[in-house]
Amino acid sequence: MEDLTWPRPATLVRIGLVALVALWILGPSMLRSALPIWLVFLVAVGLEVQFLVGALRAGPRQAPDRRPQQVDLDRYGFEPDEDVLDEDDLDDDQDELEVAAEPHPFLPPVRRFVLGLGLIAALVLAIWLVDSRTGWDSLDGPTHGNAAARFSAEASRIAGKEVSIYCDESRDYVGAVQHADGVAIVGGDRAYLTPERCFDLYRLAFEDEVTWSRTARALAVLAHEAWHLRGVGDEGTAECYALQSGVEVGRRLGLSQGTAERMMRQQLAENALRGAGTAEYVVSPECRDGGRLDLDASRTSFP
Ligand SMILES: [Zn+2]
Repeated sequence: MEDLTWPRPATLVRIGLVALVALWILGPSMLRSALPIWLVFLVAVGLEVQFLVGALRAGPRQAPDRRPQQVDLDRYGFEPDEDVLDEDDLDDDQDELEVAAEPHPFLPPVRRFVLGLGLIAALVLAIWLVDSRTGWDSLDGPTHGNAAARFSAEASRIAGKEVSIYCDESRDYVGAVQHADGVAIVGGDRAYLTPERCFDLYRLAFEDEVTWSRTARALAVLAHEAWHLRGVGDEGTAECYALQSGVEVGRRLGLSQGTAERMMRQQLAENALRGAGTAEYVVSPECRDGGRLDLDASRTSFP
């Protein structure tokens, strides 16, 4: 028997789904790159199917029996009198009315299922609209080309050779599946960045717009992939070099020297905090002023 004082599990799942999608759209970009939202929808559809099957198996809900329970009759010890009988008749009439209003016992679960699917479809549409009106996808082809050329030029300076940066709109290489911000073959000549990182770099380079930690992360990712292209395979070393190169990339794309330095210093501090989960990305203790990984021993600020 269902406990009617609590929301159904299906209701809780739907509230949770709406909250998650709202957070995904409005929340930190880290959530976007870490959480494959289409997988969330797949799970939501699966749960709706499970709720439907469960409801159909359980059969129609029983109308509650409002007559005195046997335990009450035993305790109070009276036989039903005229008044109680009248009330019973009234209740029976009401039950019949309720049953008449729902002629098919399986309709409510099916209706709830259709409602659930409708909600999921609406959320998918919302995300698709947000994605196509904002962000990298909202820019036209020539703008994509100009931006990618600019990023490629910056990466080439770090790599010490001609390399190409691609903003992976199809997400074949980065994004939903790998949970990575970028991909590059060590020593290769091309790297792929997620559209989110490309858009943050575009906003800095072409619109003079900065969103502190996102802009900082995007600069670090571009420089990180460029160091891979230069031939650095070790993740921690590539990241340490990237945070140092990121200062100049940031300055060249429009930041002041001081802002670019503060951003990369913050990235270095966050790297230590992120550590536990992604051990291979943790920079070594040598990533400090005067350390073995310090690219410019003459400079006293780091990165
Ligand atoms: Zn890497």
